[in-house]
Amino acid sequence: MFKDFFNRGSKKKKYVTVQDSKQNDVPSGIMTKCPKCKKIMYTKELSENLNVCFNCDHHLSLTAYKRIEAISDEGTFKEFDKGMTSANPLDFPGYEEKIQKDQSKTDLNEAVVTGTAELDGTKYGVAVMDSRFRMGSMGSVVGEKICRIIDYCTEQRLPFILFSASGGARMQEGIISLMQMGKTSVSLKRHSDAGLLYISYITHPTTGGVSASFASVGDINLSEPRALIGFAGRRVIEQTINEKLPDDFQTAEFLLEHGQLDKVVHRKDMRATLSQLLKMHTGQEVKKDA
Ligand SMILES: [Zn+2]
Repeated sequence: MFKDFFNRGSKKKKYVTVQDSKQNDVPSGIMTKCPKCKKIMYTKELSENLNVCFNCDHHLSLTAYKRIEAISDEGTFKEFDKGMTSANPLDFPGYEEKIQKDQSKTDLNEAVVTGTAELDGTKYGVAVMDSRFRMGSMGSVVGEKICRIIDYCTEQRLPFILFSASGGARMQEGIISLMQMGKTSVSLKRHSDAGLLYISYITHPTTGGVSASFASVGDINLSEPRALIGFAGRRVIEQTINEKLPDDFQTAEFLLEHGQLDKVVHRKDMRATLSQLLKMHTGQEVKKDA
């Protein structure tokens, strides 16, 4: 008998609205310091500005729920598989403790939040990775949750949007983590074969196995200003090819210039851009001022 790779949580799907989940957000301090320009700002004001620095325009990370809230009509988000948590398939020492620590720190059960929502009335499937949980690494649960929401979108003929933010494979799950690259790609291929839209929204930082699988195969690939996107780290590549790399190497702007991205979107335009793309590809009328 195969070992179960993950705990499936309760059998019944639990739907949680964004409004409910907001109460579970980790209470943060009153002030936040911009990691780039070091300006100190009120956390509340920064949050209202979608965590974009008022001073230098640096895009700070957004939690998964905050991101979903920003791109969905109020009260429309229905979360899938919230209770699913990782087992320790390789009996990796200390893995369970690390998972539990991140669970209490973030109030998430895993590094991805999935579900369906509506944006200006268009229904879509969504998966948002949260880099606070195990650096957004891709374990068996991340792969399974992403596959489930994609398969649901294929069945229901819904467009799918995925926000990636990941350090890549999860070392504690070894080959089972790497297997998620193939597994998610198969689900995306079925979704694509059904003629449905997949928007990959690559956020800072997206590296390793995630950049080498589902993050790079969107029908439309978007990113945020100055996001780090790459497979291996700069030092590893420089040492391997024995050459110095350009300064802007592995930034969203560099990838845009080299044809790997379709657009770098400022976070204030994220909602309008997605709304327009969803409408265009689901045959609805696009408002001229959108
Ligand atoms: Zn700043």
